[in-house]
Amino acid sequence: ASILNYMKSKIREIKDWPKTGVTFRDVCPLFEDPRAFRGCIDLLRERYSSYQFDVVAGVEARGFVIGAALAYSLDKGFLPLRKEGKLPGPNLSKTYELEYGSSTLEVQNFSSRKGLRVIVVDDLLAKGGTLQAACLLIESCGGIVVEASVLVELSSLQGRKILQDRGWEVFSLLKYD
Ligand code: IMP
Repeated sequence: ASILNYMKSKIREIKDWPKTGVTFRDVCPLFEDPRAFRGCIDLLRERYSSYQFDVVAGVEARGFVIGAALAYSLDKGFLPLRKEGKLPGPNLSKTYELEYGSSTLEVQNFSSRKGLRVIVVDDLLAKGGTLQAACLLIESCGGIVVEASVLVELSSLQGRKILQDRGWEVFSLLKYD
């Protein structure tokens, strides 16, 4: 528990950013702190060391930081889910709504991923639109979502429910109301 408290102490709270009424949780200081970053990766590594899966998919950009370190630590591959227009195709795309605007995620799709078992990782779960798009992308390219995993869950926004209602498992290390 103390490492979780330490990790939480490294997350900044910014009121009314990026717009009025939104409280932004800034995880970058946690990434910058070696003990907190190691805590995050070690706890996820411990959880997923007993899971059967093939690849970690990370959501651009902060999902890359966690996802790549986790994949490396468990000797798995890493699959980037990128914002629109960054990947040479052929790609699959999924557009979704955010707390502030809309966005599109893409995955490369030039070889079969049929039956590929995937852990989907992002930094933070808010209303769930981003992870839902990420999980749909994995399924549309033939993969199986083993679990959607985040560092921070904003529980009151109920993103977990959106995902679980569609049959995906959800895990978070740190929760805020
Ligand atoms: P959702 O789609 O509403 O669940 O929003 C989650 C996505 O938006 C993630 O990719 C986060 O990186 C980003 N996001 C939303 N709110 C925050 C926040 O308070 N701190 C950091 N990232 C956030």
